[in-house]
Amino acid sequence: MLWSFRIGSLFGIPIKLDLTFLLVLPLFGYLIGIQLEPLVELLNSGLGAEITIEALTADWWLPFVVGLIAAIGLFIGVVLHELGHSLTARRYGFPIDSITLWLFGGIAALSEMPEDWRKEFWIAIAGPIVSVLVGVVSFGLFVVTPVDLDGVRFVLGYLAILNVGLAIFNMVPAFPMDGGRILRALLARTHPYAQATQRAASIGKFFAVLMGLFGLLAFNIILIGVAFFVYIAASSESQQVTMKAAFEDVTVGDIMTPASALDTVSPETSVASLFQRMFTERHTGYPVIERDPGGGGRLIGLVTLSDAREVEPVEREAYTVADVMSTDLETIEADSDAMVAIETMREHNIGRLLVVEGDDLVGIISRSDLMTAFDIVQQSGGAVSPQPGSQFRR
Ligand SMILES: [Zn+2]
Repeated sequence: MLWSFRIGSLFGIPIKLDLTFLLVLPLFGYLIGIQLEPLVELLNSGLGAEITIEALTADWWLPFVVGLIAAIGLFIGVVLHELGHSLTARRYGFPIDSITLWLFGGIAALSEMPEDWRKEFWIAIAGPIVSVLVGVVSFGLFVVTPVDLDGVRFVLGYLAILNVGLAIFNMVPAFPMDGGRILRALLARTHPYAQATQRAASIGKFFAVLMGLFGLLAFNIILIGVAFFVYIAASSESQQVTMKAAFEDVTVGDIMTPASALDTVSPETSVASLFQRMFTERHTGYPVIERDPGGGGRLIGLVTLSDAREVEPVEREAYTVADVMSTDLETIEADSDAMVAIETMREHNIGRLLVVEGDDLVGIISRSDLMTAFDIVQQSGGAVSPQPGSQFRR
């Protein structure tokens, strides 16, 4: 959502447009315009519309105007669909940040997702229900519109079919589509939330692959795009929920490498002997501790393999750790949640954090500490909350 801007608000919920959507709207208008004739035939045979194509193609630009109006109608349908989700979520007490329209439709941004299956079920199904209702209302208006208003009847008939189609498409049981959430909600009735998510995500990936294959065979680029998007979304949703469940009640202090077990280097160490230590101890990073005369130590930096590599081999005797270490260190409190550590590392794109209690260094947490802990939780089958000193300590 790089370039999105607000166009207004409905029921106090800001409606935003993403730049990708602005590109897609005229494209849709154009596509409907050039396909007007087969679309009219479809409506005539499907709904008995009896629309005269000549009335809509009297001028060369007329099909495109009709197409653009139909595309805008579609856009309103998508907003109403998202409002269905949003208003239901709000009724359950979940705040809605905004509704954003982008390349593949709409997204209602919920600040948090309900883990109660009933709430998720109703929030997810509200969108498709609204779309069906919009389709039915469009059809009703289509029926009562005077026969000589061919353009209006085309748009209404088109919207009747497309909104019902939108509802059906959204019911495909794959994240992040509504069908995926409905499926998870139904699975969560009998399974733990993380397990229900994993199952729903696997089914979603299967459908994404199916959709992608179908898109390839039909040379349908939009379908391939949606399939790709669904696959990625299913993977990340399941990974996030699984991690969150695995790390529930696990703090950084539980899985960090404690200071007592930590190998450190002094700032005067040469880069050459740092390499030697990395090689023999198989560490890729060390906290740099300055010893004071009293016998205590003060943390002044962190040195990693990539810092050390910056020095040419011939100069490694001449340079010291103090020359290459990084001094702006990211720290995290020992009692923070493990998920916070993951997010902090991701945000700063770093592999380890210093764990502090107040001003004291009490340990280091690395990406591999987190991954090892995650593997253990997964293989032990479900969320456990480790006590300090358990298998999470290394
Ligand atoms: Zn939806």
